[in-house]
Amino acid sequence: MGIIIHAPFLYAQNIMIKAPETPYLVKPDSEFKIAAAATSPSDTNADKSAQKKELKRLRKLIGTLQHRLYAEDKHSLLLIFQAMDAAGKDSTIRAVLSGVNPAGCHVSSFKKPSSQELDHDFLWRSAIRLPERGRIGVFNRSYYEETLVVRVHPEYLRYQRLPDLPSDLADSNLQDIWAQRFESIREHEKHLTRNGTVILKFFLNVSLDEQKRRFLSRLNEPAKNWKFSADDLKERALWDKYMHAYEATLNATSTEYAAWYAIPADDKPFMRVEVARTIYAALQSINPQYPKVSKEELAEFAKLRQLLESE
Ligand code: ATP
Ligand code: MG
Repeated sequence: MGIIIHAPFLYAQNIMIKAPETPYLVKPDSEFKIAAAATSPSDTNADKSAQKKELKRLRKLIGTLQHRLYAEDKHSLLLIFQAMDAAGKDSTIRAVLSGVNPAGCHVSSFKKPSSQELDHDFLWRSAIRLPERGRIGVFNRSYYEETLVVRVHPEYLRYQRLPDLPSDLADSNLQDIWAQRFESIREHEKHLTRNGTVILKFFLNVSLDEQKRRFLSRLNEPAKNWKFSADDLKERALWDKYMHAYEATLNATSTEYAAWYAIPADDKPFMRVEVARTIYAALQSINPQYPKVSKEELAEFAKLRQLLESE
């Protein structure tokens, strides 16, 4: 009897980029309690102008490493953002990634699925928007909606016309569905990781009070009115159900190869720096390199240079 080697797992381990260790990493081997997760930073007196400077610095560094990621054309970076309404997904994406060459970065926003999307499995619509090698792909919402909003509104499952859906959609009857979805997501993310995609997942953790403040300013300030929708209040009323769904999702899907970060979101400047720092750390671990030019190519370049100069 020889030793059994689980080759695929070793292979995955070899090319795995370690999740940056930050205070907000949801550790795969520990239980995540959403009620205990911070929604604001511990230091509430932080120097705002220093935070702005730090964000600017990180944005530049992210831009530089993205250029190398693109040139190397080996890895891609997938950034997933999930949050309650008004947590600041859009503005964080804008603030953190505005130093990146737009040609190397693509943002996809996932809203209520279309009938074409509902005719496919739940990973399909995001799979076709995954970043190509060398690119950064941003998912503003994602397939995680399938264990978040759909868990809070199980009636949405009916539109998906799944085989063997129980007629009574009580959560206790749907445990298998959520467990299977978590498994599909973990396998999907493992597959992507093995193929060179580095995945970082951000849960922007806003408090109920801060969401109220932001909704009120959307209602009160004409320039923000367009951001408000009456449906936002309906979802707010289901806050506890959402928190339960987030907790279950983060516990089931924060893995060694695709970790979640639960970032306090009540203080936007702090949140942006924290997200930028995590992305920069991941890019540093990837450590992309410009392709090396061989001796032969360099010799050829010398000839070509002479040719051009003698024109
Ligand atoms: P904004 O910051 O502009 O409000 P948003 O991401 O909240 O951005 P909306 O158009 O307000 O965009 O909302 C999109 C809605 O689509 C959300 O309520 C979200 O939960 C819902 N949604 C996303 N994916 C799914 C899905 N797979 N099934 C059902 N609903 C979904
Ligand atoms: Mg919305």
